[in-house]
Amino acid sequence: MERILVSACLMGRRVRYDGGAKTSADRRLAAWRDEGRLVPFCPEVEGGLPTPRPAAEIEGGAGGAAVLAGAARVLAADGSDVTAEFLSGAQAALAVARSFGIRLAVLKEGSPSCGALAVYDGTFRGRRTPGQGVTTALLEANGIRVFTEDQLAEAAGHLRALEA
Ligand code: SF4
Repeated sequence: MERILVSACLMGRRVRYDGGAKTSADRRLAAWRDEGRLVPFCPEVEGGLPTPRPAAEIEGGAGGAAVLAGAARVLAADGSDVTAEFLSGAQAALAVARSFGIRLAVLKEGSPSCGALAVYDGTFRGRRTPGQGVTTALLEANGIRVFTEDQLAEAAGHLRALEA
């Protein structure tokens, strides 16, 4: 059975920077949970950051690939450099995914770790820009397809293809 890495906050875990969750009520996630497929994971917590914590954004609106390449930092709203924690969390996510043979992930859109299509632009003004989070970039660079919580139909189709 294919396992699926999923952002812990989508499964109700209160791991977000503000101490809350972003629980998804989607029936597909519930079904996958009941089948025992889901591996909930929060790269920021596993990277050593506390909850709650200051919001963080990738400087310059760069994507996660730039952070992985050492060309951009992840900065918290209080000005602290949290790049090392984000990189550590991304590596931990990849290690967990590999340990389960995972080829598919559903991650929270917009996050500087988990975003797949968009991240915030580094100005802390609530503006999104196209790009991936650090964990998403690392997973995809290693052959793991990442979908957002708004792409569950596509994720289900990819799961069917993997299991065909
Ligand atoms: Fe959710 Fe990912 Fe942010 Fe953790 S790092 S709170 S799993 S979006």
